Amino acid sequence: MKIELRNVYKRFEKAHVIENLNLVIEDGEFVALLGPSGCGKSTTLLMLAGIYKPTEGDILFDGQLVNEVEPKDRHIGMLFQSYALYPHMTVLENIMFPLKQMKVPKKERIERAKEAAALVKLEHLLDRLPSELSGGQQQRVALARAVVKEPKLLLLDEPLSNLDARLKIEMREEIKRIQQELGITTVMVTHDQEEALTMADRVAIMKDGELVQYSKPLDLYHHPKNYFVAHFIGSPP
Ligand code: ADP
Ligand code: MG
Repeated sequence: MKIELRNVYKRFEKAHVIENLNLVIEDGEFVALLGPSGCGKSTTLLMLAGIYKPTEGDILFDGQLVNEVEPKDRHIGMLFQSYALYPHMTVLENIMFPLKQMKVPKKERIERAKEAAALVKLEHLLDRLPSELSGGQQQRVALARAVVKEPKLLLLDEPLSNLDARLKIEMREEIKRIQQELGITTVMVTHDQEEALTMADRVAIMKDGELVQYSKPLDLYHHPKNYFVAHFIGSPP
């Protein structure tokens, strides 16, 4: 699904959090929103999720204004830092849950949840409870739950920030592989330069609610637009 933000502003009371954001994300593209804490990344993601409404400006999904698309027809999968699994449900039940809400028949729910579990390599742990899993395995369940609906847009907010260094790298590759396999348009918020540069097709660098540069990782690295970008991503001087 192609995503467009046109002249988007977001204010809370007097706080100007997003200032005239323009961004086009092509169908199937993986875009990272990268910037220091407080620059407006999560706010942007929540606007894409339809949880926040822009104060001004338009967000379009495949050319259609988002607020004119029924929430159930937006086909969004989300994975946030606090990826709470249902503690009393098994892995399979956790993954099936979004399909239940969509009223998918039980037999199909089980089949699709098993497919999603296989995608994240958890097919051998379907009957476990979350408390019986490692942190990395729990994260995989949350990822399977985010993609089981076959979303057209996957929104990730600092999905790896709670994992240790080794798991981080493993999950980077895992998320990237699944994103490519399913061809899902993906927007990931991160303040981790390396994460953005290694995972994304294009990186949007934000500062104080504004888009500073939007380029492919190598272009950013070799042709930073200004000192802020160069410094932030650690380009050679
Ligand atoms: P980031 O994800 O880049 O760290 P956020 O989008 O979470 O940044 O927040 C950007 C700014 O907007 C911060 O200054 C934050 O305090 C403010 N902000 C976010 N959400 C709200 C809200 N609901 N009400 C008031 N201010 C908010
Ligand atoms: Mg944030």
